Amino acid sequence: MYREQDVAAPVIETAMPIGKNARFVIIGAGISGVLMAIKLRERGFRNIVILEKAAAMGGTWRDNVYPGVACDVAAHLYSYSFAGNPWWRSRYAKGPDIWKYYHRVARRHSVLPLIEYHSEVVSAEFADGAWIVTTSDGRRFDTDVVIAAAGRLHAPVMPQIEGRESFAGAAFHTARWNPAIPLAGRRIGLIGTGSSATQIITALSGRAAKLSVFQRTPQWVFPVKDTPNAWWRRLGFWISKRQWHRYYLQLRSETEARGKAATASEEGRKARDQVCLDALAAIRDPQLRAKLTPDYDVGCKRLVFSDGFHEAVQHESVDIVVDPIDRIVPEGVVTSDGRLHELDVLAFATGFDAHAYIRPMKVVGEGGVTLDEVWRDLPLTYRAIAIPHMPNFLMINGPYSPGGTSSVVGIAEAQVDYILQLIDRIVGAGVLLSPREESSRDWLEAIREKSRHSVWGTGGCQSWYLDKTGTPTLDTSTLSELQAQLSTPQWDDFIERPR
Ligand code: NAP
Repeated sequence: MYREQDVAAPVIETAMPIGKNARFVIIGAGISGVLMAIKLRERGFRNIVILEKAAAMGGTWRDNVYPGVACDVAAHLYSYSFAGNPWWRSRYAKGPDIWKYYHRVARRHSVLPLIEYHSEVVSAEFADGAWIVTTSDGRRFDTDVVIAAAGRLHAPVMPQIEGRESFAGAAFHTARWNPAIPLAGRRIGLIGTGSSATQIITALSGRAAKLSVFQRTPQWVFPVKDTPNAWWRRLGFWISKRQWHRYYLQLRSETEARGKAATASEEGRKARDQVCLDALAAIRDPQLRAKLTPDYDVGCKRLVFSDGFHEAVQHESVDIVVDPIDRIVPEGVVTSDGRLHELDVLAFATGFDAHAYIRPMKVVGEGGVTLDEVWRDLPLTYRAIAIPHMPNFLMINGPYSPGGTSSVVGIAEAQVDYILQLIDRIVGAGVLLSPREESSRDWLEAIREKSRHSVWGTGGCQSWYLDKTGTPTLDTSTLSELQAQLSTPQWDDFIERPR
């Protein structure tokens, strides 16, 4: 068993700077990885490699191409703050438009040439003051700093259902959707009712001959209006930065209010719950309404925002099946009442392994301490950014980052600004920087205590937010709170050693 005192050393102040020749390996070319590279380039660093396991950049927006894929966080907030886009066509952007936006920004900032595609990282090992990062095809990258930006929701989960492999038609997870498979006029099965499934139901209702939705748990759905940004409005944003900024601030305060879902005041909660209840009450068929009514608190699972779900689900082509799935057979899905639901296509909207984080990658820190050892009980981090005993190894959107319905882009920017302050220290003073184990434990316990008492922990539901102990693995902080918390590093919480 490792102990901090085995590896900690006194703080020193006089190491050799690494300067602008410092080497950086970023893991993942999604929104966060690209952001990190842009910011490092702005700081004058040139020795940057982004290792990306797939054949294209874009993370979530590369992987998710299912019908109706979009982002339910307003597009102007789901953009980098330094690369605002006045031309978003509507309040909420569609998945392909988001991918194009991020690709364009990466190209403009000369980040694309830094990406090594088909480069899945299998290990990162600390030796002699630096890291050796190895990819699955055996390539080795030596680096001074590692930044893991692999995202939280990238490992699809396929459910263990008897006969899953036997289905004769096309079958795939929502994050592996095959756009070549025709859908119009076909019988489609959809397992799951989360945010992804809700978008698919809304897109396929009335288009498929039949859409059978296998629902284990109903979801609270908050209706929103996706208003188009007319050409004159977009032009106005482009011409008048002030008008655009006003709109941005309005969106931000609305999203901030949503972001408080976990800790909302009694009054705020009631108002939000009522919107969801009113939308349900408008469902005409009482049996369908009953099927769609959750028995847990609003906001316990990640709240689903949708323009059109409540109408879509009432279309005659949509069948909400609540009898549990018994097995999958070549012809379709058999439910526990013995009924065979015949299908041509079967989609698994069954979510992601949100607790894998950077694993199964093997990470070995100072003194041979492994990440699996440090994370044996809990994914111990300091401010979701750094890990004890892993000097100069940093993360974006790591365990216990804020979540819920905030913009992940704003969160990544706040974390990257903090990481840059650490990097200034690392390269300026030429040191190895890692958080103290005790500071990490204190920070983590405070976050867990807050989230345990939030609706995520007390609302009476199961969700991907919860760990094995039923404690949410998310920070309840809003973006403004996070920005304040991350404005300046508390250097006493770190151990510094010469390289
Ligand atoms: P999810 O929220 O984890 O939902 C998974 C669904 O699959 C749940 O309904 C779950 O039922 C069901 N399920 C899992 N295993 C099952 C089984 N064996 N049998 C029957 N049902 C099963 O996944 P997701 O919809 O892909 O969304 C994941 C996250 O991605 C979201 O929470 C959100 O953070 C993000 N997302 C965001 C957007 C956006 O617009 N911003 C869009 C899509 C996704 P139970 O509820 O009973 O477990």
